Amino acid sequence: MKITKLTTYRIPPRWMLLKIETDEGVTGWGEPVIEGRARTVEAAVHELGEYLVGQDPARINDLWQLMYRAGFYRGGAILMSAIAGIDQALWDIKGKVLGVPVYELLGGLVRDRMKTYSWVGGDRPADVIAGMRVLREAGFDTFKMNGTEELGLIDSARKIDQAVARVAEIRSAFGDSVEFGLDFHGRVAAPMAKVLLRELEPYRPLFVEEPVLAEQAGQYRRLADGTPIPLAAGERMYSRFEFKRVFEEGGLAIVQPDLSHAGGITECVKIAAMADAYDVALAPHCPLGPVALASCLHLDFVAHNAVLQEQSMGIHYNQGGELLDYVRNKEDFRITGGYIAPLPKPGLGVEIDEERVIEASRNAPDWRNPVWRHADGSIAEW
Ligand SMILES: [Mg+2]
Repeated sequence: MKITKLTTYRIPPRWMLLKIETDEGVTGWGEPVIEGRARTVEAAVHELGEYLVGQDPARINDLWQLMYRAGFYRGGAILMSAIAGIDQALWDIKGKVLGVPVYELLGGLVRDRMKTYSWVGGDRPADVIAGMRVLREAGFDTFKMNGTEELGLIDSARKIDQAVARVAEIRSAFGDSVEFGLDFHGRVAAPMAKVLLRELEPYRPLFVEEPVLAEQAGQYRRLADGTPIPLAAGERMYSRFEFKRVFEEGGLAIVQPDLSHAGGITECVKIAAMADAYDVALAPHCPLGPVALASCLHLDFVAHNAVLQEQSMGIHYNQGGELLDYVRNKEDFRITGGYIAPLPKPGLGVEIDEERVIEASRNAPDWRNPVWRHADGSIAEW
């Protein structure tokens, strides 16, 4: 079997799908994207495609090394996201050829169902509480929300008090009937992270995500030494070589590699195993579309240390396109009581509605994240 063609579709809300075709009629789907830089990843996918056309898609390990090493320069958000989506499509092809779900190719299930959590948007406590009530009725008991708005390198007691009051209100509304993680979103720098973590401690968040930016990973150990709150990060780390450092130095309780950013299934299986060796939990990052979520789930179902799966259904970022809009086998993605079952179909287990994808890709808008500025006019982290 030989790879014959790679086709990319940028689609709303901010995603991209990749179709890889073969000379025997089997096709695989991947989701290579960096939110806000989809066209740049798209160019990288097609450059890498030059190495792939004419090759045997079954040799995933070799093709991965070819894409990673043969270009001399490697790593980073763009190249590793391009490799990630291609890798997913190759696993999809392999599973379809052999007639089994990808988790069977990775050694089989370690659990019967996977715990998922839901985002709750809104920056005001009343909005978050209303959103959580709706999701509670749908069976979710675990949530993630932003921990703060923009915060200066050194900021005021008032800003800290506002962030803490919001969390206090949510905890008092639901007691211990819910769990929630707080995403600092890289908005907080080390001095304020230390303060916020201490102030938030009484409300016992399940974890704090990106307490500081990934480029400040050297701070994770120091911050963890000062708080019992589990620290999580990883959506902006792109290979086992970047994760290696945080495992060696310690500090993270949960790693969150993104299966569409960190080299795909092939690389994230390795990152998960490295985490397991350090007693670090796995919670794959996934605010993306159906192929990315399916890829995460195949890893969750073979990784003993997988504890939580993010998923984007109903997420406040999704304007103009929802995860299941592009999926024919919607029933396989049903979440019951917060849990999702293994996807039963061969390959990644996603039947893509290609006509819908082609239609949606026509004049798809270029999503950009908001640009925030501090009161003094300088750029703030979003
Ligand atoms: Mg995050």
